[in-house]
Amino acid sequence: MLNIIGSKRLEALKDKCGIFGIYGKGEDVARISFFGLYSLQHRGQEGAGITVTDGRRLKSVKGLGLVPSVFDKAKIESLTGFAAIGHTRYSTTGGNKLCNVQPIVLDFGPDQFALAHNGNIINAMELIKTLPKTVKLESTSDTEIMGHVIKNSPGRTWEEKILNSFEKLQGAFSMVALTKNKLLVFRDTFGFRPLVLGKLNGGAYVACSETCALDTIGARYVRDVAPGEVIIVDEKGFTVAGRVKSKRKSFCLFEYVYLARPDSIINKQLVHQVRQRSGELLSYEAPVAADMVVAVPDSGTSAAIGYSKASGIPYGEVLIKNRYIGRTFIQPEHKIREMGVKIKFNPLRQIVKGKRIIIVDDSIVRGTTIKKIVKVLKSCGAKKIHVRVTSPPVTDPCYFGIDTPDKNQLIASHMKVKQIEKHIGADSLAFLSLDGLIKASRLKSGILCSACFDGRYPMPVTGGFRKDVFE
Ligand code: 5GP
Ligand code: MG
Repeated sequence: MLNIIGSKRLEALKDKCGIFGIYGKGEDVARISFFGLYSLQHRGQEGAGITVTDGRRLKSVKGLGLVPSVFDKAKIESLTGFAAIGHTRYSTTGGNKLCNVQPIVLDFGPDQFALAHNGNIINAMELIKTLPKTVKLESTSDTEIMGHVIKNSPGRTWEEKILNSFEKLQGAFSMVALTKNKLLVFRDTFGFRPLVLGKLNGGAYVACSETCALDTIGARYVRDVAPGEVIIVDEKGFTVAGRVKSKRKSFCLFEYVYLARPDSIINKQLVHQVRQRSGELLSYEAPVAADMVVAVPDSGTSAAIGYSKASGIPYGEVLIKNRYIGRTFIQPEHKIREMGVKIKFNPLRQIVKGKRIIIVDDSIVRGTTIKKIVKVLKSCGAKKIHVRVTSPPVTDPCYFGIDTPDKNQLIASHMKVKQIEKHIGADSLAFLSLDGLIKASRLKSGILCSACFDGRYPMPVTGGFRKDVFE
């Protein structure tokens, strides 16, 4: 989801988010959505919302903050109906406004349409110009623009309109949408962001960003939503309304590196195993003598286990994470981010002292986290610190739904590996090769998006939406 101020200026570009949808007569759809969103909390921590339908009107509860702080028992119980959609929101600087918290509900008289979006529409600014003059935007989000584009596309039904809007909507969108009598599920033709389908024993259908949410609510995984597919669930059951042809698939590699939970399965690959294989391959690509392999928890843990297994160097814990602190990356201001790193990890000094340590993290973005950690470990008397990163250097921003910063803030966009090594104060630094990461994913490179590592975007990204053009 992208944010715009008024209709002119981009405020923050990229969000990764968690989405959840359910259709099930007789089910407590709001409570199930709450638990679904709870397990998608890692995809967005700045806001959450649930919209339900009882067949007459849509009703929503939305708020800023974590899922359990937005919803209490009374709020969940106020949401009665047979279908629901929900969203966990992740935004960047200044984009944290209540009006942007999803689901976005559009009122077209008796016809209401609610949307929850994971992704980013890159031509949102141009699309605004194509909307009827009567449209008044109430948020600063591309998801609202998307809703109006769909509404104004040809078609008798919502599903026809959605199918006919695909050629206009450029970018990434994994979606759940709700009208007063149906749940709609659709995904862009590239398939940037994950989207899966599940079924509850009672017969309710579920769609969500990651399989971990299906596990939480006790649903069975059915299949992934195919890129370009538009699905309806209503009183007639589950129907594929149509599928827009996919010219090129472009699944996000960074989902495996960092975004998804390790217990989720994406494209038939368990994320934990992909990370573990990344660690194994990195130990072959960049071996080094050491006493122990440790992780930057939690995102580096699976990979560190793999590195340890393949290298034969014992795995241990040296950083104790305060799990009540949110993801440091989310704090937009540099100062706060720096403090965030300090309060997030506390080292086990006695264990670190005198050791040669291989520290494994999943990625280096700005370089803030790892620099602090190397400093902390050195101050505990570590003999050597070898940093191993189980993804290639992040050199280019993502325009398809991840909050990577501007190119100039990406440390690897302007520093070579040796320079970064010096900058972070490590005795050695190595990144996994792109080939290694693709190998670890067990997917073909032609169906993956690796633009953040190689700048090869699957569609042109220059034009009127770049952040630097507007700020
Ligand atoms: P850096 O401190 O280099 O800017 O960020 C790298 C660290 O942040 C790594 O530990 C990685 O696990 C984590 N990270 C990578 N991408 C993201 C992201 O999109 N959001 C958040 N919150 N953390 C990230
Ligand atoms: Mg991390």
